[in-house]
Amino acid sequence: MTKHELDNLRDRIDEMNVKLLEMINERAQLVQEIGRVKETQGVNRYDPVRERSMLNLIKEHNDGPFENSTIEHIFKEIFKAGLELQKDDHRKALLVSRKKKPEDTVVNVKGELIGNGVPKFVFGPCAVESYEQVAQVAQQVKAKGLKLLRGGAYKPRTSPYDFQGLGVEGLKILKQVADEYDLAVISEIVSPNAIEQALDYIDVIQIGARNMQNFELLKAAGAVNKPVLLKRGLSATIDEFINAAEYIMSQGNGQIILCERGIRTYERATRNTLDITAVPILKQETHLPVMVDVTHSTGRRDLLLPAAKAALAIGADGVMAEVHPDPAVALSDSAQQMDFAQFDAFFEALQPAFAHAQR
Ligand code: PEP
Ligand code: MN
Repeated sequence: MTKHELDNLRDRIDEMNVKLLEMINERAQLVQEIGRVKETQGVNRYDPVRERSMLNLIKEHNDGPFENSTIEHIFKEIFKAGLELQKDDHRKALLVSRKKKPEDTVVNVKGELIGNGVPKFVFGPCAVESYEQVAQVAQQVKAKGLKLLRGGAYKPRTSPYDFQGLGVEGLKILKQVADEYDLAVISEIVSPNAIEQALDYIDVIQIGARNMQNFELLKAAGAVNKPVLLKRGLSATIDEFINAAEYIMSQGNGQIILCERGIRTYERATRNTLDITAVPILKQETHLPVMVDVTHSTGRRDLLLPAAKAALAIGADGVMAEVHPDPAVALSDSAQQMDFAQFDAFFEALQPAFAHAQR
């Protein structure tokens, strides 16, 4: 074979590659169209029966030189790529995604802007125990020029015999303290039918880790006009977390703050494992503000400060931590809440990181 003949054959191969490419992409467009139809019909994207009949037809027409098994392998890859494309289209359509909305969402909580580039702080006791207890913390929060106060009225506890929270009485205490100190309050709601009532008392509905996939609760929170702080589930992947936020937003409520609070791993040195890189991933994938709860992620007082610094350094829009007038006698999470002296030291030590994060 002369060099000229070889070049000729290569030219034909190049031509054929381009033709194959065009056909593969043309096929992909059809697949996308089918995907959109299936989406509106709510039909499963992957259809093994259909795939089998496509493969059978292809093999019937296979005159070689490729073996049927080789052809099957090549086409299965093409099918798989098509399926991935349909999934990507679906992801593109997520309301919480950056693809859908490139600009940052800024959540307005009584005038406090979360996600505007200035980190915000949420402090308060694990649980609302009494008016005095919450008011004392509120005073400390107020003295630092802060606006956001947390406190659980409904406590989802591991044991049914542990303190379950004061319920509506707790919400009323929060409301009274918020009014007296001009603060905004964040409190966890655990059941869909408690949301309506809670609207009168709180400024942010928290959905806790244990309820991240309580879809009825997510939908109920999505149907009201009140900011929602959604915590990552105990063992939730980032994808599941994002989809949980989508449940809320799909009902019309886009005022959502995501909160990384550690995930369950084999590690026992900390209560949970703080997945710090979840922060930039969530910020890239979604347009929502992302906070880090340093109390529940570490479960250790000595790690609150370094974890909070890390959160600010990596781009979190805020930090949450628990503060109690007398943690030793707290009705929940007594091992990890800060007393007021520790709170002062924590906040003071965070100032350089805070100033840096604002730049
Ligand atoms: C809380 O913030 O009070 C709480 C219970 O946290 P989590 O849902 O993250 O465990
Ligand atoms: Mn707690």
